[in-house]
Amino acid sequence: MSFTSQVKSELAALKTQARCCVTAELGGFIMGASVITLSGQRQLSLSIRTQSAAVLRRALTLFKASGPAAARPRLLLRERLAGRREYLLALSHQDTHRLLRDQGMLRPQEGGGERFAAPRRVMRRNCCRRAYLRGSFLACGYIADPRRRYHVEWVFQDRARAMRLKRVLGQVGLAATLGERRGSSLLTLKGGDQVSELLKLMGASLAVLSLENCRAEKSLRERANRAVNCDQANLGRQLSAAQRQIAAIEALSRGQGLSTLPPRLEALARLRLSQPDARLQDLGQQLDPPLGKSGVAHQMRRLLALSEQLEAAPEGRAGDTPD
Ligand SMILES: [Zn+2]
Repeated sequence: MSFTSQVKSELAALKTQARCCVTAELGGFIMGASVITLSGQRQLSLSIRTQSAAVLRRALTLFKASGPAAARPRLLLRERLAGRREYLLALSHQDTHRLLRDQGMLRPQEGGGERFAAPRRVMRRNCCRRAYLRGSFLACGYIADPRRRYHVEWVFQDRARAMRLKRVLGQVGLAATLGERRGSSLLTLKGGDQVSELLKLMGASLAVLSLENCRAEKSLRERANRAVNCDQANLGRQLSAAQRQIAAIEALSRGQGLSTLPPRLEALARLRLSQPDARLQDLGQQLDPPLGKSGVAHQMRRLLALSEQLEAAPEGRAGDTPD
């Protein structure tokens, strides 16, 4: 089952609440899923298509709870190509007019008649805004699997409907982006925090849990990766410092011989050559008397400086007595 189907099933199973919220949820639903056709004599008829049985059940529940107007929708079941079912809920002209008027979704039009518009009155309370979001998502929402990305989108027939939802999202503090795809209007919401908040507002508590689990796992994994990378970087620095020391010691050995060095320095140089991977403090422990890490680091700098002097000096000069 896709994550979208999981969320829709969860939402569809929620108890319907106060009358105001039923109106708001049905409003969101109609704005998202319905096709309103205008037939002869300016008659509107409303139909809703869906492939999800859960969404169909929710639509029937909302229709029933909204009053007598939509209590008897016509239900058609279509088998489509590729074995996909599609349900079609349709209201008669009279019922469509009554329902939309009850919903506050019909406005008088200039030059007579009425036109279909978003519900106005119901959006002042938070409970109703949440219900509207729920209705919209059930009708035309899609949510990506949170293991892949945090992404929600709604596909609308027209821009006005998409704008309406964008405003409601804005009222609850969520920033969605309006775009287009193949002639439809597309509203997109991104980011773990936003997607999680939307699920919470709609009442999909189980979905919030699984999304938050994904986020926790992801951040744990990222932290672990960072720690590994950091260790590798330190190791790299350590190795390259040791390699520089060995190169310097070998240069000194070729140029003037290690035995020309002060005894403590010579001992350290020989230790380093025999233990290229050892840490400074471990080398220091083997000196007699032992030397701490910073002491060893200081001696190593002396070795490096001597080898640089040797390179800068004319051939065979360093330490040799000229004839
Ligand atoms: Zn309400």
